[in-house]
Parts: sequence; C-alpha cells; structure tokens
Amino acid sequence: MRRAWVIASGTELTLGQSVDTNSAWLAARLAALGIRTERIVVVPDDAAALRDALLQAAGATDAILLTGGLGPTDDDLTRQVLADVVGVPLELDPLSIEHLRAFFAARGRDMPERNTVQALVPRTARAIPNACGTAPGVRIAVRGTPCFALPGVPFEMRAMFDRDVAPELRAAAGGAVLLSRRLQTFGLGESDVGGRIADLMQRGRDPEVGTTADLGVIGVRINATAMSADEATRRLDDTEAEIRRRLGDAIFGRDDDTLAAVVGRLLTAAAATLSTAESCTGGLLGALITEVAGSSNYYRGGVVSYANEAKIRLLGVSAADVEQHGAVSEAVARAMADGAGRLFDTPYALAVTGIAGPAGGTPEKPVGLVLISLCSPAGSIARECRFGSDPPRQVIRMRAAHTALNLLRLALLRETQPVQPP
Ligand code: ATP
Ligand code: MG
Repeated sequence: MRRAWVIASGTELTLGQSVDTNSAWLAARLAALGIRTERIVVVPDDAAALRDALLQAAGATDAILLTGGLGPTDDDLTRQVLADVVGVPLELDPLSIEHLRAFFAARGRDMPERNTVQALVPRTARAIPNACGTAPGVRIAVRGTPCFALPGVPFEMRAMFDRDVAPELRAAAGGAVLLSRRLQTFGLGESDVGGRIADLMQRGRDPEVGTTADLGVIGVRINATAMSADEATRRLDDTEAEIRRRLGDAIFGRDDDTLAAVVGRLLTAAAATLSTAESCTGGLLGALITEVAGSSNYYRGGVVSYANEAKIRLLGVSAADVEQHGAVSEAVARAMADGAGRLFDTPYALAVTGIAGPAGGTPEKPVGLVLISLCSPAGSIARECRFGSDPPRQVIRMRAAHTALNLLRLALLRETQPVQPP
C-alpha cells in the first residue's frame, strides 16, 4: 500500500466556518507510514457529494480515510452513505451498543434513543471502537479499497487512528517510510530557486523536490520514500548536498530555522553584539530578534525612531541629511545604523527606513521602497529594496525585517570566525 485519499466531510468545513485540520493531521501520519496522500477532498454534509468522493477514491487509490459525519444527528450521513455505496443494509453492532450504554452509564446518564443509530454499521463492515467518545468508526471495503471512517472530533479521530487504524496500514505499507526535510533560503526569488534546481524538481523524481514561498523566505522541500529510515535519510542527504551546491549561501537553515535564530547563532559563535534602529518596521525587527530564546546574549536594544526628530535627537542623524535626502534615503539609513551602534556600543547595528504604504509614496519614492543599512567592523553597507506598492503594509514591513536580518547573516558569514570557548 502506497497511496491514500483523505475525505473530510462537514458543511462547516466547506462554508469556511471551521478549518479542516483532520486532513492535515492524517496526511502527516500517513506520510510517516510511507503512504502518500494523493488527494484531500472536502465535502459538505451531503449524501451525493460524499458518495461521489468515495466512488472516485475507490477506483483511484489504495486506501480511503474519511472523517466526520458519524454523529447521531440527521446531518451525520457517513454510515448510511457507506452502506448505500457498498449496497448492503445497516445492522446494529452489539458491541457498539454495549459501548454506548457503558459510555452514558459512566457519566450517570441514560442513553438518548437517538444515539442507537451510532451503533449501526453496514453489514460487511467492522465497527472500530471509540475509546474517547460515542461514535464507533467504520472499517469497510468500498469496491475492494479499504476505507476507514473516523469521527470528526479531532481528539477522537486521532486516538482511533493511532490505536486501530495505523497498525493495519503500517503492516500493509510493508515498513516503508516517507521522510521530509526543508531547506530555507532567502535572497533569491522563487523562480530563481526553481531555475537552479529545475532538474531536481522534475515530476516523478524521487526524492521529490518542491518549493514554497512565505514573505521572501523560499523553502525547498525534499520528500524521500524508502523501505527504511536510514535509506530515506541517505537519499535526503544526497539531494540536500546537491541543492546546497546549487544555492550556496542563499540557504540559511533547515526545517523550522528562522533568519533571526540563525543570526543569533552566528552572533553567539562570534561573541558579537547587535543593536537596531527602526523606522517603517516600528520594532518588528527587534521583535523577531527577541523571539529567539537567549537573544539577550547578543541583542543590546533598539530605537524605534519613527519621526524625523526621533532620528535626529536619539540617533544623531543630521538634520541636513533628512532635509536634503529625505527620511527614506541611503544617507539616513546609514546614519541610523551608525547612531544605534554608538548608542548601544555594539559592533553590529541594523537600520531600516522605508515607505510601508498604502499612502505616502511619490513617483521617485514609491510605496515599498525600503533602505536597509548595516554597520559592522568591516564598515557600513546599505541596500535599497523595492518590494512593490501592491503588497499590504504588513507584508512590506515583514519583508524589510527579513531582508535586514539576511544582510546581517551574510555579513557575519563573511566577516566572523567562531570564537572558541575557553
Ligand atoms: P460526533 O460523533 O462527535 O458527532 P462526527 O463524526 O459526527 O462526530 P462531526 O459532527 O462531523 O463529527 O464533527 C464534530 C466536531 O468535529 C465539530 O465540532 C467539527 O467542527 C469538528 N470537525 C469535524 N471535521 C473536522 C475536520 N476535518 N477538521 C477539524 N475539525 C473537524
Ligand atoms: Mg459534521
């Protein structure tokens, strides 16, 4: 068994009133068993829609995982639809009835008559006990394809999957595993990254390689399937090494690494300290830096100098520079970084000044224009970024903060040697 479909049912899901977390959880669990989820289908509480999804899945994949619709109310259709699709009647499952009675008795209540429907399962099915709730799950073959119908309530579904479904799937998958890894890059566009690794991203290649994009951070995900974790890891390592050759220092980390955490590690290794001066990011850069546990070891502080007077009074930016070049200018960005470095007495200082929009742009200085400067022992550098006037304000601010962190990261890679602990 290699492939599965996940079907989530619930009108609250298709109306966007609640988010289908069950499918993501199941797909991750299946991947760990070496089973690839080929489709996630979300259907409303509607018999025809559920029947169509089941019939499509049955002809196309190795296993079907279905969640939701096992409750006692009229909109809970899963049992009936399964029986109809398979062409058998629903029958009362004696063990499930007993379980339901015990469930309510343990809570000092009589079982509502409505709940007996939950003990109905299609004649050819097996009821899967529900250790956490009332509705048993259903294990049934739909046109020869094994189908597991699980409750919608996430904790009931998870417990049932781990206890009763995973063992059967693990045996059927024959010990295969699917391992994933993500390399994180910054500074190249998604199409740049894609262009450099196009051959690795070709369909049908294993390990499979794909990209994701989030606020300027381009992730490269590698998925490897193999008959053992060692073998899958070896294949991930090989593909990672090849991607590293192609993308070089655009790669800043792996899996859940953030730019701020990586910068923190580099500063710590070099026993260096950092300060910030922020205008358009309003403290966002400092917030990202201080999200990292242990940042007090290298981050001394920052100034949010939003107004021109603040840049002049707190950071010592010259009034003439502001007057002549404007607050969003290379001269002012450099002076802000310089001022922060002096104020906090740090060898590294980052400054950001820009126009986050939506208003405030001019033809020469459009929304999305951001100047970033870094003061370091090697001198002062500045970068002009144009993030475009379309993205929302918070996207421009986040990209500016990320770009500043990346500028610092590259400088630290160039300029510092790790300090050996005494
Ligand atoms: P029960 O026997 O408890 O009634 P059920 O199988 O009938 O369970 P539903 O009535 O469809 O399940 O859903 C019960 C709860 O679980 C709802 O609050 C719903 O929002 C939540 N839920 C259902 N499906 C999902 C899903 N795919 N992802 C996350 N939550 C879900
Ligand atoms: Mg429902």
